[in-house]
This record gives sequence, C-alpha cells and structure tokens, in this order.
Amino acid sequence: MKAIPLKDIKFILLDMDGTLLDKYFDDYFWEHLVPEKYAEKHNITFGRAKEELFKKYKYHEGTLNWTDIDFWSGELELDIPALKEQIKHMIEVHPHVEDFLKMLKRHKKKVFLVTNAHYKVLDIKLKKTEIGKYFDSVITSFEIGYPKERLEFWQRAEKRLGFDKEKTLFIDDTEEILRTAKKYGIKHILFKTKANSKIKPKKSKEFSTISDFEELMDETVMPRGAPPS
Ligand SMILES: [Mg+2]
Repeated sequence: MKAIPLKDIKFILLDMDGTLLDKYFDDYFWEHLVPEKYAEKHNITFGRAKEELFKKYKYHEGTLNWTDIDFWSGELELDIPALKEQIKHMIEVHPHVEDFLKMLKRHKKKVFLVTNAHYKVLDIKLKKTEIGKYFDSVITSFEIGYPKERLEFWQRAEKRLGFDKEKTLFIDDTEEILRTAKKYGIKHILFKTKANSKIKPKKSKEFSTISDFEELMDETVMPRGAPPS
C-alpha cells in the first residue's frame, strides 16, 4: 500500500458495512435468511426464492431502495427489521477497527461514519457494537437523499460535515462508491478488500487497498513522532 502521511489528513470518512463491520452478517442475511423466509412465505423452494430475490436485488442495487429496509419489507412481504433484529448476535466488528479509531481520536482527527445503511439498521448495528462513540458525526444516504454512488451525495455531505477534500481520507469496500468519491475530488482513497471475513478478499486495479486496519496502524501511515494535527 502506498503510504499516506497521516499528518496530511484531517478528516477520515469511513463506510460501515464491509469496511468496519464484517459483511458476513449482511451477506448471510440477504443470501440465506431472507430467501429462506421468502420461500416459506410464498411456498416455493429455497433455490427458486434465491433466483427471484437476486433479480430484485440486482434491479435495485446502487439506489436508495436497495438500502431502504422498509421498501424491502413491502416488496417481499417480510418484516425485514424484525429479521435483522433476530440475528443481531451475528454483527461483528472487523479486527483492529477499534484500535484504528482510538488512534485517530488520539491524533485529534475528525472521524465520520458515512453509510448507505438505513437508519434502522444503523441503529441496530451501533447498539450491538462499541464503535459509535468514536465518530464526530454519522451520516446516512437516507438523510442526504442520494446513495454514495451519486455525486450529489458528496456535494451534500461536504456541506453537512464541512470536510476539506484535500485533507480527507475515505475508506470503503465498494469500488463504484470510491470512483464517485474520487471524481468528486476526495484526495485519499483506500479500498477495503476484506469485506466478508468468510470469503477471499477482493482485488482492485484502480485503488490502493487495505485488507485489515492493522495495516494503517504502522508507521508508514503515521510517521513515528509526527505531531498530532
Ligand atoms: Mg460497504
């Protein structure tokens, strides 16, 4: 990974699902639990349910519908928030995330959680984990009115959070989102390759990558003795 001197960075924007939290929870939810319940509800096989659902997922991917669990409750006739609640014990923070967040706070960085997650899901996840306390602010694409894949998201997010693009590091596990952020002018961008702990990390041809936050804890990023900014 190319070193980014942390003294050049004042604002850190972090994605939640897949980046800070293990995407295994979400993948299991949408690829296993929801198809199972959908199959029961509509009296079809698990395979058929998966097929139908994946078509629907694909169609709404990258839109606000995709992350709107109330939309999915209606669309699938299932109580999606209740199902999430049912498996919330499976929500896990990726390794070294808390150490990384603590380090950022020690160096007085402004840390923002920037997520496409629905506020109900955000709520379940922040209650289940200990990471909420590290953020100066949390914004969801729902409040903004656009998903992170859209330039409008970034225009509004900058106004809301007051970050300086030139001094900002953004980390996400979705390349399409990073592409938009880059186009918008966010200077430092990292692709989190290990989103789901149970599957092989992804690769990127376009972005510098990290697979684990441990990589940002060493002195290539924070030169030893660098004064807190
Ligand atoms: Mg993500």
